Amino acid sequence: MTERVVIVGAGMGGLVSALLLAHRGVEVVVVESHATAGGKIHTMNTGTAVVDAGPTVMTMRWVFDDIMRSVGTQLDKELHLTPLTVLARHFWPDGSHMDLCADPEESEAEVERLAGSMEAARFRRFCARARALHDSLEGPFMRGDTPHMARLMAQLGPSGLAQLTQLGPMRSLWQQLMREFNDPRLRQLFGRYATYCGSSPWEAPATLMLIAQVEMDGVWSIDGGMQTLAEVLVWLAQQRGARFVFGQKCEEIVVRQDEVYGVRLASGELLAASAVIYNGEVGALRVGALGRSVQRAVPSQKPPPSLSALTWGLHTPRQDLALDRHNVFFQDDYASEFEDIFDAQRLPRTPTVYVCAQDRPQADLQEPRERLFCLVNAPAWGDQPADPGEIDQCEQTSFEFLQRMGLNLHQAARTRTTPQQFHQRFPHSAGALYGQATHGWMSIFSRPGARTPVKGLYLAGGGVHPGPGVPMAALSGIKAAEAVLANLASTSRSRPGVTSGGMSMP
Ligand SMILES: Cc1cc2nc3c(=O)[nH]c(=O)nc-3n(C[C@H](O)[C@H](O)[C@H](O)COP(=O)(O)OP(=O)(O)OC[C@H]3O[C@@H](n4cnc5c(N)ncnc54)[C@H](O)[C@@H]3O)c2cc1C
Repeated sequence: MTERVVIVGAGMGGLVSALLLAHRGVEVVVVESHATAGGKIHTMNTGTAVVDAGPTVMTMRWVFDDIMRSVGTQLDKELHLTPLTVLARHFWPDGSHMDLCADPEESEAEVERLAGSMEAARFRRFCARARALHDSLEGPFMRGDTPHMARLMAQLGPSGLAQLTQLGPMRSLWQQLMREFNDPRLRQLFGRYATYCGSSPWEAPATLMLIAQVEMDGVWSIDGGMQTLAEVLVWLAQQRGARFVFGQKCEEIVVRQDEVYGVRLASGELLAASAVIYNGEVGALRVGALGRSVQRAVPSQKPPPSLSALTWGLHTPRQDLALDRHNVFFQDDYASEFEDIFDAQRLPRTPTVYVCAQDRPQADLQEPRERLFCLVNAPAWGDQPADPGEIDQCEQTSFEFLQRMGLNLHQAARTRTTPQQFHQRFPHSAGALYGQATHGWMSIFSRPGARTPVKGLYLAGGGVHPGPGVPMAALSGIKAAEAVLANLASTSRSRPGVTSGGMSMP
């Protein structure tokens, strides 16, 4: 039998696994149903410009620094990243606005300007708590294997456990923010971080306040857009011998004698493999779309899906409003947005609108037009028929709201993506963009890990531990590559170039 590793999906998790394994001398074939790599990292063409239409907020660059170092290069050699001094600019209907900045002192000054010195002192305490929580969970949770409650508790040690207890692990993020801040705008601002993993601040555990720390540790823009990150990973993997088959769907993960044997492509071709890393939707495995014998690779119970989105790419006349790169336009009533989405399963009637001004902050002021990507959270009902009336209504509400806030986008041609279209692009996702929702404090224990009960089948991606987001999916790709390598090394002593002991990631 061949010693080849087939990777199903060229999303972030799959690409990172491909690069790391190819670097270790493993024969790698990546099968991707789309014509390009990146998966949720993708662009849309407005007719006059190409707009990043997936992830736009690049955090945790250390993950990519580590990956590049481990394959003998440097991130700065392969990509041009610019650290943002303004992490995000926030606007409210009463005309107030606030920047969250890379410099904590500048952020504190902004909080003081927005809400006074008492809130600034609270912000300082919040930052210290978020930092401590982040530092204790980063090793055992983010870099660790699939968390098992008892093991995680042991790894956290007395100080980590004390922090969790103080936080009240069963408290929701919103309940915690009610304690942290008096000003509702600051609760809104930090509650929104639950949406970074597709969840409601009212249902997500308080531990998600560590995402605030992740962002305060830095946000970068990538020259050429997020797609460039995917392209660079493909190129580096190809240089190390990985082969990419684009435009080919894997129809089945073939199991023989209780062990993965290979994958069957839509063309009918059978690609034999001693291991398969699956980077597609976890839900597809669950429903048997890749074959009944691999259904047991993931928990049988369907978890609640994460948020979907209604998005627009625009190439508009340059806006007068002082936008930065990442802009958030909040409404007065935040709770109703999540009640609409998660309880009533409808588009929000008063949506928060995220606007990524992709040519800022370095924009050429002479350019008459600029590229914008707008996003409104939506329910993951992408596998149900669309109600165009509801979608049009949400679009109208969102753009009228932006107009009141000073952004005039009515005249601009726009390209829209609905939850249904996300579902079509990522089959079996229902349009959920971040895998399962992180709702309830036990949810982090319910994501599958890199290893599965099916011999030779491994998982990587945003639906897998440690969770969604570009750097987190990359971490899952590292875990999958490590697991494959450990297995290959234990079953063969003669494979040149393949070494045991994991990826030596810092
Ligand atoms: C609109 C939007 C905004 C986002 N914003 C952010 C953000 O600002 N910051 C952030 O960090 N994250 C953000 N995310 C989330 C982030 O993009 C994802 O969590 C991450 O990219 C997922 O990577 P993945 O490894 O799960 O692969 P995916 O991106 O899910 O890709 C999986 C790939 O597998 C392929 N595939 C699946 N099944 C098969 C099959 N049977 N045969 C062949 N190929 C198959 C698919 O075509 C796809 O290309 C956003 C996502 C979206 C859509």
